[in-house]
Amino acid sequence: MKTGDETTIPLPGTGAIPCPFRENWLLAPATRYRIGGPARLALFPRSTEELQAAWAWAVGQPVPRLILGGGSNVLISDAGFPGVVLVTTELRGIRDRGNHRFLVSAGEPLDRLVREVMLRNNYAGVGALTGIPGTVGGAVFMNAGTVNGAICDFLESVLLFGPSGPRTVTMEPSLYGYRQQSFLMPDEIIAEGSFHFTPASENQQEIYDHYIQRRKEKQPGGWCCGSVFKNPPGDHAGRLIESCGLKGVRRGGAVISPVHTNFIMNEHQATCRDVLYLIRLIRRTVRDRYGIELEPEVRIIGETLDLD
Ligand SMILES: Cc1cc2nc3c(=O)[nH]c(=O)nc-3n(C[C@H](O)[C@H](O)[C@H](O)COP(=O)(O)OP(=O)(O)OC[C@H]3O[C@@H](n4cnc5c(N)ncnc54)[C@H](O)[C@@H]3O)c2cc1C
Repeated sequence: MKTGDETTIPLPGTGAIPCPFRENWLLAPATRYRIGGPARLALFPRSTEELQAAWAWAVGQPVPRLILGGGSNVLISDAGFPGVVLVTTELRGIRDRGNHRFLVSAGEPLDRLVREVMLRNNYAGVGALTGIPGTVGGAVFMNAGTVNGAICDFLESVLLFGPSGPRTVTMEPSLYGYRQQSFLMPDEIIAEGSFHFTPASENQQEIYDHYIQRRKEKQPGGWCCGSVFKNPPGDHAGRLIESCGLKGVRRGGAVISPVHTNFIMNEHQATCRDVLYLIRLIRRTVRDRYGIELEPEVRIIGETLDLD
């Protein structure tokens, strides 16, 4: 699978990589922003065993590391990523362990968990996870969710791989909060989650259909990362941005969505620099007007957010 590109700088020991890999792999198509230059090396483990071996190999390399799931919450530098990117999307599997418990691999699409497990069994809480793109691993890392709840609420435990081997964390509310968790240590990767669901009395399919319809009406379609900023306590980032008159502001191919002001769209061949310009503009304007520091929800890779 090597590209054979002359500019490829071989990493020490690429011959020992324990899973499929690509050198100089373009990141933009693997992200929902369609933005980002090449990764020096991308690894594609296809099983838990390959993931453990590939991650152990990656952690041993003298270059930076990045984990990429569905790429729906990342903004990656136009220069790309100068190290190893471990892509989880080949890591699939949902195992029914009985008693409403399911073991789900990190690379499973979150929507498949919702439709094929929660909806099929009419488990409670579908409204928390409906319409969120990306993988289960990415969702657990972000504690993705909605006003109705978030993914960690359904987790019993997670299996992590780190420099000292596998580790299982039993989930408890003190380990996660609004779009964040504290159980993942540096150099650890989420391998799988063990979910425990509860049968619902309400029809979950109706709830699912309702929220899918709502997203169609309230969210713009196109290349983006969803909400760029977390909501500050007691307020909405979108409301603050709109009240600063920033709706529809453009930079290069990027625009602050006129439909939902907390979305910055890649409308036409936007660069990472275009989107970052708008992110900085929003942060500076909201800080100057309201004294509120908006915290990005999107993970910015290979660039900094300094407000000059
Ligand atoms: C149209 C749209 C709507 C959205 N709506 C919502 C919403 O309603 N609620 C919400 O919470 N989010 C929303 N998002 C954001 C995004 O979908 C979620 O954050 C999603 O859970 C990210 O999953 P991913 O697999 O795409 O992660 P990625 O974007 O690939 O990665 C996100 C972060 O997770 C880390 N990561 C990924 N997998 C692993 C792993 N296995 N182990 C360790 N770290 C990992 C990455 O390193 C990165 O830091 C939306 C995005 C879009 C484009």
